[in-house]
Amino acid sequence: MEIKINKGILSLVEGDITKQDTEAVVNAANKSLRGGGGVDGAIHRAGGPRILEECLKIGGCETGEAVITAGGNLKAKYVIHTVGPIYRDGLYDEAKLLRNAYQNSLKLASSKGIKSIAFPSISTGAYGYPLEDAAEIALKTTIVYLQTHTEIGLIRVVLFVQKTYEVYGKVLKRLLES
Ligand code: ADP
Repeated sequence: MEIKINKGILSLVEGDITKQDTEAVVNAANKSLRGGGGVDGAIHRAGGPRILEECLKIGGCETGEAVITAGGNLKAKYVIHTVGPIYRDGLYDEAKLLRNAYQNSLKLASSKGIKSIAFPSISTGAYGYPLEDAAEIALKTTIVYLQTHTEIGLIRVVLFVQKTYEVYGKVLKRLLES
């Protein structure tokens, strides 16, 4: 599913983020930046040790913030590591922190002149963010970014499992109709 927003494209695909040919891919990292499971483990496995070396030099990342490393063996030239919130009950600023994770990743991409970027569904795996709510935040934030920044040409959201892809698609349709 693909929509044009201002000068850019927002695209939803079912797939593996480690295979994407965008200039940057985003990693749903943890604060230590030492690697982990899920999408984080997949990116480090596919990208090789250079990514972890750079992460260890950076030393860590706060929730909602983003840092950048090389892409190592990935097709993507860069990995932007961002830390989504661990979901508790919605009363710990989870929504704002998730929005910050998307926004700060995009701002970092813009500042590096990156024109195409792929995101996974941040916080909806081990971090337990309710999927529909997370999808709404991910999509609203990326849509507003494309509306207000013309330097990024493509934001691709890469959903690893079919059900997640379907939920994102449903939420996007709803946002476009409202
Ligand atoms: P978090 O800790 O932020 O919740 P996870 O990696 O546990 O991060 O999960 C985030 C999302 O990433 C989940 O929807 C999961 O299905 C998805 N995911 C796992 N592996 C990949 C991959 N290779 N490409 C894209 N998405 C992936």
